[in-house]
Amino acid sequence: MAQYYTTMNLKSRFAPSPTGYLHLGNARTALFAWLAARAAGGTFILRLEDTDQTRSPEIYERALLEDLRWFGIDWDEGPDRGGDHGPYRQMERLAVYAQYYAHLQASGQAYACYCSADDLAAERAVQRSAGKSPRYGGRCRHLGAAARAEREAAGLLPTLRFRVPDQGTLTVPDLVWGERHYALADLGDFVIRRSDGSPAFFFANAVDDALMEVNLVLRGEDHLTNTPRQILILQALGLPVPAYGHLPLLLGADGQPLSKRYGAASLRDLRKDGYLAAALRNYLARLGHHYSATGFLDSGALAQGFALNQISRAPGHFDMVQLQHWQHEAVQSLDETAVWDWLAPLLRGKVPVGLEMPFVAAVRANILLPGDALDWAERCFGAPALAADAVEAIIGVSPEFWSVAQATLQASGGDYRNWTKALQQASGHRGKALFMPLRAALTGLTHGPELAALLPLIGEERALARLHAAAQRPSMPAETTL
Ligand code: GLU
Ligand code: ZN
Repeated sequence: MAQYYTTMNLKSRFAPSPTGYLHLGNARTALFAWLAARAAGGTFILRLEDTDQTRSPEIYERALLEDLRWFGIDWDEGPDRGGDHGPYRQMERLAVYAQYYAHLQASGQAYACYCSADDLAAERAVQRSAGKSPRYGGRCRHLGAAARAEREAAGLLPTLRFRVPDQGTLTVPDLVWGERHYALADLGDFVIRRSDGSPAFFFANAVDDALMEVNLVLRGEDHLTNTPRQILILQALGLPVPAYGHLPLLLGADGQPLSKRYGAASLRDLRKDGYLAAALRNYLARLGHHYSATGFLDSGALAQGFALNQISRAPGHFDMVQLQHWQHEAVQSLDETAVWDWLAPLLRGKVPVGLEMPFVAAVRANILLPGDALDWAERCFGAPALAADAVEAIIGVSPEFWSVAQATLQASGGDYRNWTKALQQASGHRGKALFMPLRAALTGLTHGPELAALLPLIGEERALARLHAAAQRPSMPAETTL
């Protein structure tokens, strides 16, 4: 019988196949499973499902652990740190599976199947043309010892099939989708060990969950159809059945499966671009799970607000604009030193030593990614290019304005308030007419952080040079009033 969800001694897991870099869909699955464990004060384990040897090079295993750690997920048991239920790589557990295969075979709940791929394809074709859904017809179900020996002698390598009971209904509870009922007669005997001896995914997966005492499985909706088979296997072995919850699909904003173009990015790509783990956590935790808190949450608060009954059945839509919102929030949530640590790989050498913290304070509200900060460093300490609207803002004012601006700046000793007050009095420009030309001349843009914060970074010398340069641009005749 399926055991129903209880938060007592909750143990959940993430069980990735290390066949590539961790992408957003899997990262969200890992996050939900981790949040569920942490919310309940339970245990979280990491298990590597590496039985696809052609596609599990070691670099992916290392990258996976590194990406998860960067993402802020930790585990109590796993391949790198061991635990009481190891090993945590499936390829190191083949001897464990062998025992369970033997048990099923001895009790008649599994049998060798010698059908070739061609035999099976032909069988399916016949079933399809008769309008039936394809499933194994049971040809090898009752082979006697002599028939088996004959096939072995001919060198045929059998698969091992699970013998599904002929009749009855299996009820499969799901934390997200509710109960589903399956007629056993429709399932067909399925392969639990391939002819090369490797375990079928759902066999190893189910056995490991049971042996590792996992009692909550959160995973992608694509595994929903594996669940009845897994429950049958566990019941046949007398092993405990975990509670399952299948997470709704993650789609692109366009409603299509996540494509290369839209958010199929790996966690690694986003990290390289400068996205913060906290931004991804806040965003992904809300993709398919409802939080009543709308603001930025740290990991503890994300766990505290996590509840299985808040998981939605509607597919999540990955939207870059939403991610950017959380990125903005995440940047604001860091203290200044942490912002600098995040920027430093790109900005070291670009911000004069000693000005790092004032620079961070000035620009942090205006940056999403380190590249944005690099642009602001260039605008403060380098020779910024003028955007077209900045040029327009500059040529809109008279040369006299610029010379007064230079004189008052010098007189105020670089103090922003005194300077702009004096300039206002002397020029008669106020409000936007005062600040926009200054902003344009000093930064090359018509928007950005507070000028008061930028001026000390730009410094008097560079500021004077930029005001001087602005004065050299021909002004528009209609605007030549000072
Ligand atoms: N290795 C499977 C996957 O990555 C695990 C599925 C599960 O969580 O049960 O899809
Ligand atoms: Zn067969």
